[in-house]
Amino acid sequence: MEIIHISAECYPVAKAGGLADVVGALPKYQCKTGHHAKVIMPMYETKFLLQHEFDVHAKGSIYLGPTHLDYTIIKEKNNTLGFDLFLVDIKGLLDRTMIYSHADDIERFVAFQIAVLDWINSWEHVPDIIHCHDHHSALIPFMMQHCYGFKNKLAKIPSVLTIHNAQYQGWIGLDKSFYIPTYDNWKTGLLEWEGNINSLASGIKCAWKVTTVSESYMNELKWNSNGLEKLFEYEKGKCIGILNGIDNEVWNPQTDSFLKHHFSSRTVTNGKKKNKQVLCNQFGLDPSKPLIVFIGRLVGEKAADVLPDSIMSCLYTMKDACSFLILGSGESQIEWQLQQMNHQFGNNYHAVIGYNEALSHNMYAGADFLLMPSRVEPCGLNQLYALRYGTIPIVRSTGGLQDTVKDMGENEGFGIRFNNATVRDIYYSVERAIEMYQNPKQISWMRKYMMAIDHSWESVINNYANVYQQII
Ligand code: ADP
Repeated sequence: MEIIHISAECYPVAKAGGLADVVGALPKYQCKTGHHAKVIMPMYETKFLLQHEFDVHAKGSIYLGPTHLDYTIIKEKNNTLGFDLFLVDIKGLLDRTMIYSHADDIERFVAFQIAVLDWINSWEHVPDIIHCHDHHSALIPFMMQHCYGFKNKLAKIPSVLTIHNAQYQGWIGLDKSFYIPTYDNWKTGLLEWEGNINSLASGIKCAWKVTTVSESYMNELKWNSNGLEKLFEYEKGKCIGILNGIDNEVWNPQTDSFLKHHFSSRTVTNGKKKNKQVLCNQFGLDPSKPLIVFIGRLVGEKAADVLPDSIMSCLYTMKDACSFLILGSGESQIEWQLQQMNHQFGNNYHAVIGYNEALSHNMYAGADFLLMPSRVEPCGLNQLYALRYGTIPIVRSTGGLQDTVKDMGENEGFGIRFNNATVRDIYYSVERAIEMYQNPKQISWMRKYMMAIDHSWESVINNYANVYQQII
């Protein structure tokens, strides 16, 4: 089957979060099972571009409203990622160092989607599946079916939309509807939601199948999806939750190139001890105490706003019972608060503000516990990486966290779960973690048990194949 994944992110080409990890791995494992999966994404000015060789694959031009834009499709030469990688270069629009947060993101991602379809429309054959990811490519199913320039050839291609995060929907004012190539005006309703063009809503209406990244999140979306609740209820017949896998080749404590000390489940106690020592030396933390880490975007969705008070409450009340290490970036107020605390808690606390792939791997390897108080967590990859690196997850019971972590109070439980993203619940969970840390036998059993859980892409890849088969 020829599957075309269309995405704004793909690890290691350009990554802002979990979307990149999924798009960097799913096609690779699809190719391993005999499919021809390909990825097409914008060409940003990232390191990957400089470190790899590319061929010019195609050239073309499109209109974004009245603006004429030339595009070039380049293809990575050596199949480094295990699948064909194509990048869309639109000079002056996509070629930036940062993926998002530009004033003209609407123009950038609409132009990207038009260029992708213009290119596919020029092929002699058609692919078997078009697989879109999140709102940056969610206008594609509409454009394939209703834009006059594309529909003759592309309307019959089955399309899938995977929602990695429904909080962000790609809203576009109706005054910009002329960006979308000429379409049948009777179909305008398929673009709109509550008075705007809503890219994600349009994708949900027009894609042949909609998937999201865990079953619990799929259910949650019907009552909590940033305004799209009714739409999810209405379209539930074509929606399905498929839990993400993880790339066991990238996330493997026995081979991880970011780690100084490799370990397996057999050597986990010693291996984690050594990695913890490295981490603690680096940030002036005391390695004899349980180390609790947080890695992620510092935004309300991740409940990062409750971190400062929660950590302060733990460190003041429990005195020297544990240490915290934070890695993240996001809202400036939260960044500032977390950074200020660097001066208050000596060798019990450190926050690193920024994005640092290497450090994140070292934190999964060296930490004892990973804290995820997320208010919304579609799947959550961090806790899956933590499990693989023998780090005990402390998570709020929501979305994918609920589907992948079992509280230690249950039979064969291996983590800590709590209900509310509040200082009180976090404090109580940290207390439970510290208590557990006093019992090395229990910790050792739990680490080995967690590391043996199979969250590989191989174990879930068939679920996507089934979705494709249903619509072909
Ligand atoms: P998101 O909602 O951000 O996509 P996920 O749990 O699905 O959350 O994926 C987060 C991914 O981004 C993980 O690979 C995590 O390690 C990584 N990550 C998040 N923030 C940072 C950071 N500041 N530095 C390095 N990696 C990060």
